[in-house]
Amino acid sequence: MHNLWNDKEAEKLVSEYAEKGVDRDLALRVYTTRLLGGEPRLVLHGGGNTSLKTKAKDILGQEWDVLCVKGSGWDMGVIEPPGLPAVKMEALLAARQLDSLSDEAMVAMQRANLLDPYAPNPSIETLLHAFLPHKFVDHTHSTAILALVDQADSEPLCREVFGKRVGFVPYIKPGFELAKAAADIYDADPSVEGLILDKHGIFTFAATAKEAYDLMIEFVTMAGDHVAKNGKKPFTSVALPQALARPEEIAPYLRGAAAIPQGEGSFGRMVTDFRTSPKILDYVNADTAEELATRGVSTPDLSIRIKTGPMVLPAPEAGKLEEYGETIREKVADFSARYCDYFETNNARDEVERTMLDPMPRLVLVRGLGLFGLGRSAKEAKVAADVGEMLVEAVTGAEAIGSFHPLPLSDLFELEYWSLEQAKLAANKPKPLSGQVTLVTGGAGAIGAATAKLFASQGSHIVVVDLDEEKAKAVAGEAGNASIGVGADVTDPAAVRAAFDRAVETFGGVDIIVSNAGAAWQGKIGELDDAALRKSFELNFFAHQTVAQNAVRLFEKQKTGGVLLFNTSKQAVNPGANFGAYGLPKAATLFLSRQYALDYGALGVRSNAVNADRIRSGLLTDDMIASRAQARGVSEKDYMGGNLLGHEVRAEDVAQAFLNHALAERTTADVTTVDGGNIAAVLR
Ligand SMILES: [Zn+2]
Repeated sequence: MHNLWNDKEAEKLVSEYAEKGVDRDLALRVYTTRLLGGEPRLVLHGGGNTSLKTKAKDILGQEWDVLCVKGSGWDMGVIEPPGLPAVKMEALLAARQLDSLSDEAMVAMQRANLLDPYAPNPSIETLLHAFLPHKFVDHTHSTAILALVDQADSEPLCREVFGKRVGFVPYIKPGFELAKAAADIYDADPSVEGLILDKHGIFTFAATAKEAYDLMIEFVTMAGDHVAKNGKKPFTSVALPQALARPEEIAPYLRGAAAIPQGEGSFGRMVTDFRTSPKILDYVNADTAEELATRGVSTPDLSIRIKTGPMVLPAPEAGKLEEYGETIREKVADFSARYCDYFETNNARDEVERTMLDPMPRLVLVRGLGLFGLGRSAKEAKVAADVGEMLVEAVTGAEAIGSFHPLPLSDLFELEYWSLEQAKLAANKPKPLSGQVTLVTGGAGAIGAATAKLFASQGSHIVVVDLDEEKAKAVAGEAGNASIGVGADVTDPAAVRAAFDRAVETFGGVDIIVSNAGAAWQGKIGELDDAALRKSFELNFFAHQTVAQNAVRLFEKQKTGGVLLFNTSKQAVNPGANFGAYGLPKAATLFLSRQYALDYGALGVRSNAVNADRIRSGLLTDDMIASRAQARGVSEKDYMGGNLLGHEVRAEDVAQAFLNHALAERTTADVTTVDGGNIAAVLR
């Protein structure tokens, strides 16, 4: 592995931090932590940490010997000094005299000895760092090291590769006991330059940041070289069909099958993140892939991300999607049954009360295609896919030099159901629309943008579709939550299809549509140009139909229901003079909503409309408001508040009505009026 230390870069960071009052040691600690954290083959999503032994002052100015150690929640690749909270060394060292220390007591003790009470929790491996005497300590879950330690004969193998330069620590769950055991092994031979932790990773340590980092890269390179020199071809490929389906063709079936049933037509939905590469393909096509998947994961903390390991799917043959959808369902049922069994067996081993997590896979290998990460959010799906790629690295290496032999599932269970992890999960409640994907048309307009932002704030990922691609992207950025913007003319069926394809490529499917794009044509109905009326029907009726058709095409594959929401208008029920060209297709769209409710209710699809009026938007511009107010001889404020409640109705109010519909699980074929009250326009 390439050593990325660069004197110039290191000194630049040192002088930048010096201006902020950060000393040289801490600046260099930040520098090499970032070097390590930026390399996924070393550190991935919490799998690694670093520390520095130094002195620091508390609020009263008193100086303490401290350990600055990676705090939870910080990404090593972009760490800053506050990501390395200072803990008093005296207390940490005193803990070594204890016979036992529970995880909760250890966390409490570490928190109680922080110099800054608002700092994040110090790493779970803090004591191990503290018990080693060196100023700089580095720890990674290097995939090259894992290839050596995930073997039945890992200890002699490590001896062969590293000789006496490293100590070998048998597997113990991270925490107090591991810290003590590792320190005892170090004390027995203080000449070692690092510690290999069986089935887990590696520690290096030295007096300077550079030396500790250099050692890490050196040992990891030695492990990688050993695999390269002694490795055989690890996998034999299974036969694949001539023509394969594309990943986006199977993603909706997969996310539908993996959705967590919550009873009576409710689901906890997942989104997908697809990856492929020659290396991934070698692994997923291996004739041993299914058997390897049952052995476990390369380093135990991965179980928090991908449970007991991946689910393996056969290669999808092009043109046979419906049958393949059934295969996915069977495989998911099989995976979840095995997961329930794993939980029950291991849970029965003691008296601890635990709540079973959902039994759905988070990493899915598809022969011929690649891998899918699944998660309750795009972020979680990405983490699962990242972890999947590193699992591929480690297992490929392990199989090349021997046989992948990770920790048994009983030990994974201890990690996955670790009380500290369970507490984190309990604190992390999903939002009402978590895992859902909402496609909003006219997404850059006032109502579309307000809806996109509101739905994103409730946990949904948004596909903002608008004629103006740049504006669509801008709204997606403001909405956040990994939302995307797509340019499309909704009156062009091919463009609508392409927008849905983008949604599927990015998230795996769609759950909710807010069919909102519209524009008003004016003119007395008897004198109206035919072309104008037809154009209005294209946008205000047929485009809604195209969007809804695409949505139910996906809903039928996902089998998790779905929500169709249409922006109709007051015009649909209460025509305004000279607005026939607008009202007629809107009236048809209102009935379109009811027709979908009728035809797709049995599939769990709900279809509702929102009937809004007098909203400041592209259809009712500030200029139009000014001229209409003048024509009626009222102020603009009175014109906009010309309703029973006497207040202007905002785009956000319409967005709220759409959200209410998205969440009202037993409401379909409904129309919600959002106009501040207009008795002439009420539905009857
Ligand atoms: Zn670790």
